[in-house]
Amino acid sequence: MTLADIKSRIATAEENAGRAAGSVQLIAVSKVQPDERVRGILAEGQRVFGENKVQEAAGKWPDLRAGFPGVSVHLIGPLQTNKARQAMALFDAIHTLDRPKLAATLARLAQKTGHCPDVFIQVNTGEEPQKAGIAPREADAFIAECRGLDLPVQGLMCIPPVDEEPSLHFALLAKIAARNGLSGLSMGMSSDFERAIALGATHVRVGSAIFGARVPPAAG
Ligand SMILES: *Cc1c(COP(=O)(O)O)cnc(C)c1O
Repeated sequence: MTLADIKSRIATAEENAGRAAGSVQLIAVSKVQPDERVRGILAEGQRVFGENKVQEAAGKWPDLRAGFPGVSVHLIGPLQTNKARQAMALFDAIHTLDRPKLAATLARLAQKTGHCPDVFIQVNTGEEPQKAGIAPREADAFIAECRGLDLPVQGLMCIPPVDEEPSLHFALLAKIAARNGLSGLSMGMSSDFERAIALGATHVRVGSAIFGARVPPAAG
């Protein structure tokens, strides 16, 4: 698929869902992709990108950004507390706020620096033990806690279990967001972004459908 194909599929999904054109933001997930491929997508006009590792993003985005004004980079992978400061300087949004300790750290650094990226709270909708995210039944309290810390909470994020129908998870995430008055929904990837848009996604995270398959990272 080309970037243009994905954009037109997003536009069709918006229309089918009765949603305004342009209401869904495409995050092009550039993790592990060679720089020249990322430059190609930048040259086609894409400006919002997703990375899942702080180190990898720190190594490539300062250079990549230089030639292209208006780029924003979103962190979509887990964030260790000891990398929070670096992540806050590097990213325009963090989609993976998933625990009280990280919330407290982000809030403290935001106080100190006067700057905080947009924040999405990750919800472990499938309650998978190996997956990050706050449990659905704890989400309301955690959202309130993050707001109490003055964090700029834009919405919620989920990664559905691979072997389940994602729509059930998208609907659950949308329900938790609605009852908490949150409008942002970061959900949907290459294989299911149209279903996510039908259920209210505002941010879809699409990697392989744009860039082609990822070369597997070296072990370790
Ligand atoms: C890699 C990744 C994506 C993109 O996945 P594709 O299937 O390549 O579209 C989306 N979200 C997260 C959290 C990811 O780690």
